Amino acid sequence: MAEIILEGVTKRFPDGSLAVKEVDLDIADGEFVILVGPSGCGKSTTLNMIAGLEDITEGTLRIGDQVVNQLAPKERDVAMVFQSYALYPHMSVRENMGFPLRLAKVDKATINSKVEEAARILDLTEHLDRKPANLSGGQRQRVAMGRAIVRDPKVFLMDEPLSNLDAKLRVQMRTQISRLQRRLGTTTVYVTHDQTEAMTLGDRVVVMRQGLVQQIGTPAQLYDLPRNLFVAGFIGSPAMNFVNATLEGAVLHSPLGDLPLEDRTRQSLERQNAPRDVIVGLRPEAFEDAALSTERGRSGPVFTATVDVLESLGSDVYVYFTAEGGSVTTAELEELAADSGMRDTGSEVQQIVARLDAATRAREG
Ligand code: ATP
Repeated sequence: MAEIILEGVTKRFPDGSLAVKEVDLDIADGEFVILVGPSGCGKSTTLNMIAGLEDITEGTLRIGDQVVNQLAPKERDVAMVFQSYALYPHMSVRENMGFPLRLAKVDKATINSKVEEAARILDLTEHLDRKPANLSGGQRQRVAMGRAIVRDPKVFLMDEPLSNLDAKLRVQMRTQISRLQRRLGTTTVYVTHDQTEAMTLGDRVVVMRQGLVQQIGTPAQLYDLPRNLFVAGFIGSPAMNFVNATLEGAVLHSPLGDLPLEDRTRQSLERQNAPRDVIVGLRPEAFEDAALSTERGRSGPVFTATVDVLESLGSDVYVYFTAEGGSVTTAELEELAADSGMRDTGSEVQQIVARLDAATRAREG
């Protein structure tokens, strides 16, 4: 079993800065967990403490059934993949991948068969005799993965392994890593600042900010039930919109119009003793072209907005706009009515419908 358990794990650097504050985290055997958050939030420091590259100031770290606080990195049976790949330029792919096994004094025949097996999984067989300089970025990245795989470690730790790749390759590699992790079933902790990567890769995602864990959950839990405004605004692309509103019975009075509450939501707010003044979070997909909405017999408050930018992605259209008296800035519309006139970026006034049933509620946490 290679579960990873952090209890009250804290990191204070010698200069006094508190980088990670009392993190509690239970990672199950075989789980793929992502640490995500803005730059400087403490995700790499947390990963480095698990790897043994940084001391733990306070708290307990367990890997499997062993407390590893005092163990050196090589005694923890973890393999790390870095953003820089850290390949040796003078070694071939085969030698790079086999290096950790050579260090561990594994015999040549075993090294060869393990390297060849990893190369097959990673589609690197035909490149085994090349040097890193003669490989593409994606291939180098796979060699770095291969070097981690051959050791068959208890745990994989990955620190932004895709950030040196272009956008398209990143998406491809994301799928590969996800498949590979499922196939090997190795407990994996993966650091990224990219929320899309976090949401698509992880069984669970840990959102961090200023050294503190903000929320731990499945991608769906973070998206649908963010615990505070930070998580609500951080998860989702384009980001959630926030508007101030006043709660009165079953209605939220907002600058966009009156948003009726479902019974379930109203009851939940009552249970929480929600204050009268609240912040409502509306995902971009909670908006709809007003003309189409009417055509389809759907209702919701209609408001006018000045379109700042239109981005057409083929299947969806992102509309960045300023609502009358409101701070809403993005809508993701499935389609536009033929006569909506909203075809060009400009400053035309357009009608958009907001619908709370598709929205997520956020409260200050
Ligand atoms: P990034 O995405 O930019 O890598 P991160 O979330 O991984 O950020 P960390 O590298 O873990 O953040 O850093 C967390 C905090 O600790 C930051 O404020 C950073 O400045 C500080 N820090 C990191 N290393 C040291 C160090 N050796 N000495 C002092 N402070 C440090």
